[in-house]
Amino acid sequence: MKVSKCFKRKILNPCNLEMYNYQMDPYIGCEHFCNYCYALNEAETDWEKEIMIHEEFIERLSQALSKIEPQTIYIGVDTDPYQPSESSFKQTGKLLELFEKRGFSVCILTKSGLVTRDIDLYTKMPASSVGISIAFQNEQTRNLFEKSAPPNKERIEALEKLKKVGIDTYTLISPVMPFITDVESLIEAVVPFSNTIWIYRLQIESEESPNWYNIQSILNRHFPDLTEQYREIAFSEDHPFWLELRQQLKEIQSKKDLNLKIEL
Ligand code: SF4
Repeated sequence: MKVSKCFKRKILNPCNLEMYNYQMDPYIGCEHFCNYCYALNEAETDWEKEIMIHEEFIERLSQALSKIEPQTIYIGVDTDPYQPSESSFKQTGKLLELFEKRGFSVCILTKSGLVTRDIDLYTKMPASSVGISIAFQNEQTRNLFEKSAPPNKERIEALEKLKKVGIDTYTLISPVMPFITDVESLIEAVVPFSNTIWIYRLQIESEESPNWYNIQSILNRHFPDLTEQYREIAFSEDHPFWLELRQQLKEIQSKKDLNLKIEL
């Protein structure tokens, strides 16, 4: 994997999620290279071969933090903060050390068990929450769509360790792939270790999007009967498939009294 420097790009950016003012990514690009990733649509490099890191990352982050009040910042919008390169570059680890010293906290999302390396730092930032994302209930299907990402077992074990020491944990079941993702079985797998479970549907911007191209290639090869159905479902949030799934999940939520955030 080639890791190149990214010059003078803004580090801290306004956050699209209503709970947070700011978001940031310690890396640009993501080695996990999930075929459905929406961020692929804006990718500047081929993520299978090259990612980028910010030049003078901590110095510039420190300057940016000195201009705002301590608060929770969302980490991991367009990249995984614990992708393999984090083992050597420690951009996320350094970021957390700085946040902890300056009284900030994070809401962070990953697919990697490497997140447990920083458990001590998370426990020192009690307003922080740490989440994993998951989309497939078996490894065979997961490998079709996200073969370079860590296995589900590693993610769930990480979540368990985080929860055990009292860190606020969440799971993002995303993207829900129609007729492939079994949302109920994923809920069962993560519910003992998640304070909150968010559920997001597959969303494709347009037929020209690179992630739609990737998904279609996989469907054509492995689920040829689904390609045409996906064309109808993936581009419409009001499709009966989503309406029915929303209803089913609401019923499960009230029956089992679960803290689900259904964003389908
Ligand atoms: S881990 Fe997340 S950011 Fe990275 S490629 Fe997969 S979906 Fe995209």
